Amino acid sequence: MKVKNYCSNCQSVHEAEESFCPQCQSRLQALKADDPVLLCKANTTIAMMLEPLLKEAQIPYSKISKLGAAMVIRAGNLLEEYTFYIPASKLEEANKLPPVWEQ
Ligand SMILES: [Zn+2]
Repeated sequence: MKVKNYCSNCQSVHEAEESFCPQCQSRLQALKADDPVLLCKANTTIAMMLEPLLKEAQIPYSKISKLGAAMVIRAGNLLEEYTFYIPASKLEEANKLPPVWEQ
């Protein structure tokens, strides 16, 4: 596996040649296997397709909800947006999943 760099501010992965994050200009660190990496942002529909895939592939993930629970009840589920994080060591496996989210 190629050496990669990691932005702890954006939870994003970058090529090793880059020293600073192109998004936030933070200094990058060497990527560690257990660093949480941003996989994707997903609405409710995509999240419902993605979660079984991650479980089936045995990829541990964190799903962070953008809206609060009260907002979801008022607006309905469809406006909800989730952000999925996975450990860096599982990134290659996650990229082999069917692309239910926009990559
Ligand atoms: Zn960054």
